[in-house]
Amino acid sequence: MKIIFLGAPGAGKGTQAELVSKKAGIPTISTGVILREAIKDKTPLGIAAKSLIDNGQLVPDEVVIELLTERLSQDDCKNGYILDGFPRTIAQAEALDKMGIAIDKVVNIYVADETIINRLAGRRSCPGCGATYHVVFNPSEDGEHCTGCGAVLTQRDDDKPETIRKRLTVYHELTAPLEQFYEKRGILVTVEGQEELADTTALTMKALELL
Ligand code: ADP
Ligand code: ADP
Ligand code: ZN
Repeated sequence: MKIIFLGAPGAGKGTQAELVSKKAGIPTISTGVILREAIKDKTPLGIAAKSLIDNGQLVPDEVVIELLTERLSQDDCKNGYILDGFPRTIAQAEALDKMGIAIDKVVNIYVADETIINRLAGRRSCPGCGATYHVVFNPSEDGEHCTGCGAVLTQRDDDKPETIRKRLTVYHELTAPLEQFYEKRGILVTVEGQEELADTTALTMKALELL
């Protein structure tokens, strides 16, 4: 099974992808995670990407397409995968077509822009295992450390209000047209992402027939 999670920054793509990944036994491939690894390792690519990401802009298509192609060639991807944060432009979606990748389902998580700022301002991430929390909606056991691995939770540099607004503009301009792109193929399912976390999860599992 090959699944794409589509949706604005903070819609809940990463959170749902993590749950579906466990349930379906296929890995989540997140270009955001791959890019943040490159930044942490201070690779030339990471250094070049950091200023774009911190400005709320997209990393160039060629760069992310190459990172994704390399990741999908690894062994754990042979029985399917979940794409979280890719494609983000029509050119990236066309690159998947050119690679001969047939996507089974695109889950589009809908959340209104007004909700996004609160979501992202309260997002906390685990630098150890990559788990995502929210200070109010999905807190870790003690609020400070990852429940899974114990690492101290951190806030992303790009989750600041000015950057969030810029990311939303970029999303509407470059990424939202993908809804139509996949709608036309009859593989798009839109789920309401503003419900309680558990309700959004139930809708997602239903959309993917994983209940
Ligand atoms: P979010 O979870 O908020 O949607 P991501 O972790 O997916 O954010 O991505 C963080 C940033 O990394 C993006 O704002 C963008 O700058 C860059 N990025 C991630 N994936 C892509 C992509 N497919 N194309 C271009 N830039 C990307
Ligand atoms: P994305 O990958 O789309 O950027 P995340 O999965 O990182 O989004 O979620 C953004 C923030 O919102 C996180 O702090 C997450 O815990 C929280 N969150 C995700 N889904 C919901 C939901 N349905 N209700 C409330 N908060 C949510
Ligand atoms: Zn952790």
